[in-house]
Amino acid sequence: MPILTPGRRWQPSYYPFRRDKLGNRILNSLEMLYKGPLWGCRQCGNCLLQETAFICPMECPKGLRNGPCGGSTPEHCYVDETRPCIWYKIHERAFKMGREEHLLEVFPPLDWEKVGSEQLGGLLKQVRINGVKNVISGLLSFKEDQRKKTWDGIFRPIRQPAWWGGDAEYHAPKYDEPVSELEKRLKSGEFVVTAEIQPPLTASTNKLKQNIELLKPFVTAVNFTDSASATPRMSSWACSAIAVQMGAEPVLQIAARDITRNSLQAEALGSAALGVKNILCLTGDSNRLSPKPRGRMDILDLDSIQMLWILRQMRDEGKYLDERNIKFPPKYFLGAAASPFASEVKFQAIREHKKVNAGAQFFQTNLIFNLDRFEEWLNALAARNILNKVYILAGVSPLRSFKIANYMNNEIPGVQIPVEIMKRMEAAEALGNAAEEGIQISLEMIEKIRTMQEVNGVHLTTVGWEEVVPRIITEAGLIKSIPEIS
Ligand code: SF4
Repeated sequence: MPILTPGRRWQPSYYPFRRDKLGNRILNSLEMLYKGPLWGCRQCGNCLLQETAFICPMECPKGLRNGPCGGSTPEHCYVDETRPCIWYKIHERAFKMGREEHLLEVFPPLDWEKVGSEQLGGLLKQVRINGVKNVISGLLSFKEDQRKKTWDGIFRPIRQPAWWGGDAEYHAPKYDEPVSELEKRLKSGEFVVTAEIQPPLTASTNKLKQNIELLKPFVTAVNFTDSASATPRMSSWACSAIAVQMGAEPVLQIAARDITRNSLQAEALGSAALGVKNILCLTGDSNRLSPKPRGRMDILDLDSIQMLWILRQMRDEGKYLDERNIKFPPKYFLGAAASPFASEVKFQAIREHKKVNAGAQFFQTNLIFNLDRFEEWLNALAARNILNKVYILAGVSPLRSFKIANYMNNEIPGVQIPVEIMKRMEAAEALGNAAEEGIQISLEMIEKIRTMQEVNGVHLTTVGWEEVVPRIITEAGLIKSIPEIS
């Protein structure tokens, strides 16, 4: 086990895709002599150690480089339960060391030209560029500021290549007029409702179209999941295009699990051309949850924060990731998932803060059953001064049975159902009216959520029970009457 990285086991290093020159291979071996035993270095080619409390993040099975996923827990990683969540450990140590604000910097995806290669040569080059004398005098300076500046002058260009230029700052959207109905209504102060439709498991669109027609009069926008639980269904992209044709406003969900940097940018342009105006960036459930045979579980090309950063730059700077200009940039309202119940509130707040800085304009949260903890999370976001930069849509889900409640509580990462609610569902199940009890619990949740100043709306997730949405919205008083469905 590496000395400074809490982890279960030694993981193999990445290999360069081509044979390096002899000099680089020697430097590589030198680097691994100390980084291997100390940190379990995997030679990612873009070291973040100083910003991650001196714990190598490359132990994360998803390969996340910008913080934990929504399933992070203090006990273990949900993808591999035999090891701790490395991002939980990073946050724990960062808080102990007082280095938590370092975690806000938005880090780039791996540059696979460099993966598996040494970085010592790059550091020496940076010292030469900055001037050996300047570096020595800067590092020996009595002024802390000067020492930090010199140190950063060497390491920052290594971890933040020019094609990325990540930072820890908020970047306000560079447009004024709302790009979508969802953004327009949120901006006007309306308490909005969005709802999720499960894409079909077949090529037939009959049920999908029925559900779109059913929900259209009641909600501002409809989300289409992107192969939730890593189980293939019709693509969110195709469902969104059908919704646009039917006059409904879609929220296109994109899971990092299934995309690459190329396909993300291509999809952003294609969906904008088809009239999709809201995009929700997710890391996505790990392939660990998928049916067998399972796809790759040990690395993602991008994480959701990198997706937000790339999409924001395409829209606001008119730039591809490779820095080419986009003559007619796409327009969209960018969202992200938020997890009030994963790991610890203060850890998640850093993660949400980073998402806002990267480009998230609205959050759709994981399912809320525990309002006290939800309020705690809102307070943590308020303390970070980000509630005026992002709209919050609280996730609400009617429980259809005690079995579903049990499954969600035990198996879905980031969902917590308090004991009282479990007891209510169990008792209702025994009487044969669990579905009705589930609806009543949702209505109670919405009533309380509406009194929370910081919340801008609700997002209904029904897991295939779309027929219940009109009733919940009507009985919650979010619409006055059920319009005729043509
Ligand atoms: S962040 Fe990358 S270079 Fe740094 S220790 Fe981890 S694998 Fe090695």
